[in-house]
Amino acid sequence: MGSIITYDMKCPECKQETGFHDFYYKNDEEYFFCENDDCRFSYKYEWKRDEDSKLVTRDGTENYKFDNLIMLETVVKDGVETITELNQNKDDE
Ligand SMILES: [Zn+2]
Repeated sequence: MGSIITYDMKCPECKQETGFHDFYYKNDEEYFFCENDDCRFSYKYEWKRDEDSKLVTRDGTENYKFDNLIMLETVVKDGVETITELNQNKDDE
């Protein structure tokens, strides 16, 4: 699957250019990881899946349009992981 990888991206936490960013433009999933050992901040945006790795839809049907999927935001800061289920997709603010 197509993705755009960016090395040496500026980290939003430590402001060093030590970030690794991977953006899957076909399905809008996104990963960021800071390689600065003093920081290690990371985040990811992924579509919610069930235990069988099947995409979870908002209305429970098999309509896999993006507006019927649930975006999960996972942020790891200071070693603490926070997972947030977004009410709307990250691009429709
Ligand atoms: Zn950082």
